[in-house]
Amino acid sequence: MSRKNTIVEEERRALKKRLAKKQSRKKRIRRIVKKEIGKPNVVVSEVCAICGVKEATTRDHVPPKAIFPKPRPAMITVPACSECNNGASDLDDLFKVYLSMQATGKSEIATKLFKERTVRTLQRNKSLLSKIKAESKALLVKNNEGKSEKKLAILWDSKAHDEVVQRTIRGLYYHHADKPLAYDTELKVQWLKSIPEEIESILELLTENVIGDDQVRYKYYIAPEDPRHSVWLFDFYGAHYASGYTVPIDS
Ligand SMILES: [Zn+2]
Repeated sequence: MSRKNTIVEEERRALKKRLAKKQSRKKRIRRIVKKEIGKPNVVVSEVCAICGVKEATTRDHVPPKAIFPKPRPAMITVPACSECNNGASDLDDLFKVYLSMQATGKSEIATKLFKERTVRTLQRNKSLLSKIKAESKALLVKNNEGKSEKKLAILWDSKAHDEVVQRTIRGLYYHHADKPLAYDTELKVQWLKSIPEEIESILELLTENVIGDDQVRYKYYIAPEDPRHSVWLFDFYGAHYASGYTVPIDS
């Protein structure tokens, strides 16, 4: 056997050893879990971060990856069941279209999102294009210098907006709290023009996170005494703001 082959053989053996070790560790954990649960056939797996009910079989991006043009920044993913993950892509696409129309021109990446992704979506989806055309209005607004400027006011698809923000909150909640939102929790989404007064008093409690090169900023607070209470603030591309909060259903 040549020297090279010997090295390869050694590496192969070491790898085999490592795998065997990993396998036995897995088996050991499974044995412990079985013992704890007392039902030998139950396979313990992660629960879906979005619905909090079904078994997770995939990973979902929060916020959705559709709103980031390529090359995408490092993103947050959470375990998700296939229903929650696959059922959302059309709404993600709609959210991207409206967001990018609002954000284009705000930054290079926002314009890239609009030019590279939204234009393509609208070329494929002519009925969406006509819906947007019919629902948008040209408005005269004052710019920073006080001059009147013609701007197109886009009417968002509110179902797409609220559902995407809700899913994002559920996913980020899981990411930060390490568990899904409790079943007896209500989740509300609000549009924001500015920060509401009732949130202002707790602003310093919020933790801020930034995704990508400033594409999405969010602040959140999960109450330690009752984690069913949480507050979420989003800034998408410095162009669109949304907020959400969770409360126990009985409160
Ligand atoms: Zn699910």
